[in-house]
Order: sequence, then C-alpha cells, then structure tokens
Amino acid sequence: MQKVSKNVYVETGFRGCNVGFVVTNDGVVMIDTPHAPEDAAAWREEVSGFGPVRYLINTEPHGDHFTGNCFFSGIIVAHEGTRDAILDISSAPRELVRLPPGCSLPEDFSFRAPDITFTSKVTLYLGDHTFQLINHPGHTPYQVTVYIPEERVAFTSDNIFCRVQPFLRQALPYEWLDSLKALQKLDVDVLVPGHGDVCDKGYIPEMSAIISDWINAVDSAIKNGMSLEKAQDMISFLDRYPMEAGAESMAQEVQRMNVRRLYEVLLDSER
Ligand SMILES: [Zn+2]
Repeated sequence: MQKVSKNVYVETGFRGCNVGFVVTNDGVVMIDTPHAPEDAAAWREEVSGFGPVRYLINTEPHGDHFTGNCFFSGIIVAHEGTRDAILDISSAPRELVRLPPGCSLPEDFSFRAPDITFTSKVTLYLGDHTFQLINHPGHTPYQVTVYIPEERVAFTSDNIFCRVQPFLRQALPYEWLDSLKALQKLDVDVLVPGHGDVCDKGYIPEMSAIISDWINAVDSAIKNGMSLEKAQDMISFLDRYPMEAGAESMAQEVQRMNVRRLYEVLLDSER
C-alpha cells in the first residue's frame, strides 16, 4: 500500500484494478474493491485500521472493480449504468462470474449493488473532505472520476491505464479523448489510474496518444476495406506496453476485442 497524499492510500499490487481509500475525520471512503476474494479479505484488514467505512464508490461497471463489494460495509455509490451491470451479473449463474486465474468465490459470496446512483455528477461531503464524482465517458459510458480537492488527488478509474495495455471492450473512443482533456483541467498533483502505477497529469498526453493511435489504426483498416477478421489479424499494440501482471494470458484476446469494439463504433459513426 502507498500513501499518495496526506489522507489517501492506494494499492496497485492486487490482481485486477487499483483500489484506494480516503481517511476523513468522520470515517473512511473507499474507491473500488479488489477482484480476487483473497485480496478483498486482506484489504478489509488493512482498511479497518483507519476507521469505519462510510461510503464505497464503484467507478465503473466491470467486475474487477466491484466483485469485492460484499467484503465491505458502507453505502455504495456509483453511476446508474454500473448498478445495472451489477444487478445483471447478480442474477447470472455463478460459473459466469469471472475471477482472476486460480480464484474461486467463497460459499457465502453475494454481489452488493449500489445504494445511491447518479448519471452526470454528485458530490459527497464527509467530515473534512469533499468527493466530486463526475461521469467521464471513455473506457465505458459509465466511467466515474473521483476528485478530492482537499487532497489534490483524483481517481481516474480506467480512463487511464498507466503504461499497461488498455481494454477497449466497451469504449467510446472519442468521448474518451474528451474526458482526458477534462482530467487535464483538474487541480491535482496525483492521478490514481484504474490500472498501472500512480501518475500525474504529465501522463495524460501519452494516454491520449495510445487511444488516438488505436482509433487511427482501426479507422485506416476500415477505409482500406479490411474485414473485421483481417483487421483483428493485422492490428496489435502489444509492443507498446505490457499486459498488467496476472493478465498476460489474455494479451491476444484483448487486442482482438479492442479492434472489434473500435471497428463497430467507427463503422457506425461513418454511416
Ligand atoms: Zn478495470
């Protein structure tokens, strides 16, 4: 665990997404939960030393950010689209729940869906801290940035993958570029990305470049009349960044998935 500002703690070493929490003078606010049950149990131990969890924010609708919710108390806050995704997977058979390799769900496992939702933005006030939750579409339509002005820190969720392969399965690529511009305007010293190392606003141009390069690669494939399958065979950005630790076996699948998503979105926008 690392301390990234006076009262903000982050763990980037779990399988799945980065998680963090903020210690206020009236309890703890958590941002996302570990994907693997063992990691979630360890994180609960760690967090409990800092006070009761008052709020738990889920920043997006993918399981690596919310599967661990049931290990924690506190009121869950998320975008409406994230609540819908959690309710969907809650009603699916247990075998369909994806976990990091080698993990299994504990017997008493259940999903916890958000108690409070929003669609554009909402502000939480707790003790001496302010939490601005802002919908910044990009990695998914429901992506949420958590900006904590008193700490000069923002959790960007998966709109930033810091020097690891980005996942574009549910991406809105042009909105993603706009959201990165919005992040650039925040008055912060620290950005906590959804995956990869903690960074700052200096990384945003590099993140924008990888998204732009993805868009351009798929766009020129379409303009050259390439089929989706051919584009999936031809386009790969695996030489740019490593996969995040633990996800190496998904490398090819992620490239093909990214091409598929952009191919569909770009083709649609040209119609
Ligand atoms: Zn993620």
